[in-house]
Amino acid sequence: MDLKDFPRSELGFFPTPLVRLERLSKLLGGPRLLMKRDDLTGLATGGNKTRKLEYLVGEALALGCDCLVTGGAAQSNHCRQTAAAAAARGLGCHLVLGGSEPERYEGNLLLDRLLGAEIHWSGALRKGERIPEVAAGLEARGRRPYVVPYGGSNEVGALGFVRAASELAEQLRAAGETVSRIVFASSSGGTHAGLVVGKALFGLGAQILGIGIDKGEAGEMPFEDHVHELASSLASRLGLGRPIGRGEALVRNEFLGGGYGVVGEAEREAISLLARSEGILLDPVYTGKAFGALLALSRLGEFSKSETILFWHTGGTPALFSPAGQTLL
Ligand SMILES: *Cc1c(COP(=O)(O)O)cnc(C)c1O
Repeated sequence: MDLKDFPRSELGFFPTPLVRLERLSKLLGGPRLLMKRDDLTGLATGGNKTRKLEYLVGEALALGCDCLVTGGAAQSNHCRQTAAAAAARGLGCHLVLGGSEPERYEGNLLLDRLLGAEIHWSGALRKGERIPEVAAGLEARGRRPYVVPYGGSNEVGALGFVRAASELAEQLRAAGETVSRIVFASSSGGTHAGLVVGKALFGLGAQILGIGIDKGEAGEMPFEDHVHELASSLASRLGLGRPIGRGEALVRNEFLGGGYGVVGEAEREAISLLARSEGILLDPVYTGKAFGALLALSRLGEFSKSETILFWHTGGTPALFSPAGQTLL
């Protein structure tokens, strides 16, 4: 199938800007840095999940569903964008969130409520493990739920990043730029798998380098294998005509620091450096860690000074206004 054969519901403003980080590149003395601003997708403060939701909601509407069910951590950007997408299309929204009801609603959680989502607290389970149970309950009450998987990362959601790769290829051509690597925070794998397949389909030359931000649970498949598997099935569905190589799904896992959502010195420095040199905000959970990794790799000499590296800003800024944001000062 071709990308345009999949139903898509327009939820964001695309293309997102491609910008040069001139001041920071100079400050670091190389490599040259570009940034793809998916924090500006426009859906209720933006982020990378908007691209996936365009295809997921497209399918939900095509199937005649009347509500969306998804889940994640209490400060999930994915859940907040899903709540906004549901509101924009007149669908109900049920969010299965890790933890228990807090005293104060802040950051993404505040926005979930404003956007009208119904929240189901699920204690220690923060990866949407109870989504099937909530969906079954809705079905039993005569609703037609559409399940959006954790992070929106299945073959349908990842289509958003196949499309994103084509969008970037076009922007690079127009700007006369070539990038050697694309660096970004990788967590549920849909962004990564979509970019890997999009790179193969649209001839992007750059290495696709995901930065792991979550250790994963014991017994789970290694994250790189998960990305590879998702990219492989997506590639065959889109008729790529060749297998995705094991080495095409690269994840660096040595920048986890204190673990998921834990702010350490690396995140603090990365966030403050970009804020003060470029006036651009990162987030404490995903992009702060990934940008910290980019800075560390660059200082370790893994990137040559003359390379041009693109950082894909995947959003997440509402978490600055959650308790995690307070730990940045
Ligand atoms: C979800 C998310 C990611 C990771 O994207 P995946 O497709 O889940 O790997 C990165 N950054 C932010 C801000 C996110 O919300």
